[in-house]
Amino acid sequence: MTLKGLYNVYLVLASFSSVHAATVNTPKVIERDVIIIGGGAAGSHTAFRLQQDYNKSIVLIKKGSILGGHGDTYLDTSTTPSTPREYGVQVYFPYLDGLDFISRFNLTLLPGLDPRGSTTTRNIDFSTGLELPSNYTSPDPSRITSAIIRFHNLMVSQGWDKMIEPGFWNLPPGPQIPADLLLPIGEFAKKWNVTEALPRIPAWMKVLYGEVGMYHIQGGNQLLYEAIYARLGAAENVLLNSLVSSVRRPENADDKRDIEVTIKTTTLSSTTRNTTTTIIRARNLLLANPPTRENLAPFDLDSLESHLFSRAEYGRYGTAIVSSPVLPRGYELHNTPILAAIDPNKPFINEPHVLEFASYGNDSDLFSIGTSGSGLAYGEFDERAATKVAQKSLERMVDAGTVKVPDGKEGGGDKKLKVVEYLDHGPGGFGVSAEEMKAGWMEKVYGLQGKRGTWYTGNAIAIDFSTQL
Ligand SMILES: Cc1cc2nc3c(=O)[nH]c(=O)nc-3n(C[C@H](O)[C@H](O)[C@H](O)COP(=O)(O)OP(=O)(O)OC[C@H]3O[C@@H](n4cnc5c(N)ncnc54)[C@H](O)[C@@H]3O)c2cc1C
Repeated sequence: MTLKGLYNVYLVLASFSSVHAATVNTPKVIERDVIIIGGGAAGSHTAFRLQQDYNKSIVLIKKGSILGGHGDTYLDTSTTPSTPREYGVQVYFPYLDGLDFISRFNLTLLPGLDPRGSTTTRNIDFSTGLELPSNYTSPDPSRITSAIIRFHNLMVSQGWDKMIEPGFWNLPPGPQIPADLLLPIGEFAKKWNVTEALPRIPAWMKVLYGEVGMYHIQGGNQLLYEAIYARLGAAENVLLNSLVSSVRRPENADDKRDIEVTIKTTTLSSTTRNTTTTIIRARNLLLANPPTRENLAPFDLDSLESHLFSRAEYGRYGTAIVSSPVLPRGYELHNTPILAAIDPNKPFINEPHVLEFASYGNDSDLFSIGTSGSGLAYGEFDERAATKVAQKSLERMVDAGTVKVPDGKEGGGDKKLKVVEYLDHGPGGFGVSAEEMKAGWMEKVYGLQGKRGTWYTGNAIAIDFSTQL
């Protein structure tokens, strides 16, 4: 189990035990050059480089109990030796000097994905629990690859790749953004005959057709983030389980006051849940967490900041490690809507759903799942809602006879999905409409960089891969 898992178990136990809340009222005051909010790939990397390579004093604020954001690793102790099971970030792509950063921690990068046992894919419509007809054939991989190559060549020949990678600072001003880049992705794909590439474009295209390789960290992603945590100075410079409660920033360039951020940190002992307050003063503040309305609520946003960030749209998604006696070892059960039997490129699911139950192989009871809160507002799709959707999908498959309750295990309880560990990936698809982009949303957001001592980074405003970030 990961440190995060242990902490979560402790939180649950604490809520049922005699642990009671206590608040320490004397705030600690600290001063730093830079305050960094968000300890995912972007925040952890920036904190490390500022401190180690630019000699800046930093403090990194992290909502959860470990660094790493999307890159959590579950340590499966049911095997000997224990097996790291990735259920967020899987691989790192060589992009500029991105991989060199990982090598600074004496970690070993191995080619390809972290190996899982071999699996067989079954296509099941999770809304009915029924398997697709036996004459259903998945899209031909070679056609997908050719579509990806066409897509990539198009981006390069038009110069569009340079506008979006690794960040969006090379996009032309709003009105001059190529109209094609603002089309809904389905229309774009149809226009340029690349529709077959769509299911795979969340991955980096160059990797998909083999121009560049991909690597995983031997022993798991968490080794990287544990090493960063230790080298940053652990609790001295990284405040885990901490949330911003209020922020005061200079009003304008003439206002020479420091930024002041008040943080509430929750710590647990065997008998008490303590909330401590830290006031941090600094010249610069870096937002490396997604600039959602929820995250920005404690900030003293001015009218331009409020206007820009209120325009963003986003949903929420998560991944988890789960098990159930009903789930067949060695299988990947893909959520494939029945419409795919007519057109494999057609189905987009616009309601909360599970993407797949993917076995870690014949020697494991564990499965990874991806969950999407598609169609729901951000706050409506938390771990509880995601688990409910996954449980329902499982029950439908049992009721339809697509998966079987093992012999001697009838009685209902065995249909229950056990969530071993859940990772909230926060906002998915953070972005704005084509109209907002034409009106210059992205350039105005980049124009905020450095104003009021505040800087922005992360996947909300740059390409969404770890090494590029
Ligand atoms: C399931 C999944 C698989 C992926 N696989 C890959 C892959 O194989 N290869 C790859 O290159 N990329 C992959 N990605 C994309 C990659 O994970 C992201 O591009 C990258 O991690 C984003 O880093 P970030 O620092 O911008 O954001 P995040 O990693 O989301 O970091 C933001 C951090 O801010 C914290 N936070 C949020 N709100 C607050 C708050 N109010 N206060 C304090 N902290 C807060 C969060 O807890 C989080 O730690 C994957 C993403 C997902 C979701």
